Amino acid sequence: MLIDRVVAAYFETNCWIMATGAGQEAIIVDPGIGKPNLVKSIVEKVQEHNLKPVAVLITHGHLDHMFSVLPLTKEIPMRTYITGSDRFLLSDPMGALDRGGVSQQLISAFGSNFKEPDDVVELEDFSHFEIAGLDIGPIFAPGHTKGSVVFTVNDEQLNFRGCSICWWDWKDRFTNWISRRYAQNLTGKNFDTTRWLKCPTWAWWANYNRH
Ligand SMILES: [Zn+2]
Repeated sequence: MLIDRVVAAYFETNCWIMATGAGQEAIIVDPGIGKPNLVKSIVEKVQEHNLKPVAVLITHGHLDHMFSVLPLTKEIPMRTYITGSDRFLLSDPMGALDRGGVSQQLISAFGSNFKEPDDVVELEDFSHFEIAGLDIGPIFAPGHTKGSVVFTVNDEQLNFRGCSICWWDWKDRFTNWISRRYAQNLTGKNFDTTRWLKCPTWAWWANYNRH
């Protein structure tokens, strides 16, 4: 399995890129905030591995996880997967953010032209589907946002979840914990990470664990 990432310029969220190997189809997870967006960095990374992206997975509808999904899917036409509960955030990101907060300032600075990508598919809880030769299993984990979701890849070989630790914000830390506990209680699976891939700073983590 090939796993690489682009660290977003803002909030340092990880945008994961995964594929069965170089030269294959690929999945992009959580394209976050860049200047003006993350498209260039993602395209460069994709070209580095000679990948063909075919889908975007969104762990939740916060801006730092989906800011670049529209320009990215314009550049590389592909399907976007998100839960029905967070779908509206693609066109109305302020629906889950504090008015006047940092994110709203970013929206003001970058323009607020948000709309849904052309091809959006709503995820189903506990379903399984194959993209790019990988088995994807969404498990809903409401708490951090109403439509937060964790993904198992190839039956737990890999787990993706969105925001997990935000050290400066107790509310985010708590809601992330709720999401994780919810998924754990539902499934009996462990969504604590055994191995962290972390951002250059301790600001934000989007991580995976291998078994
Ligand atoms: Zn978040």
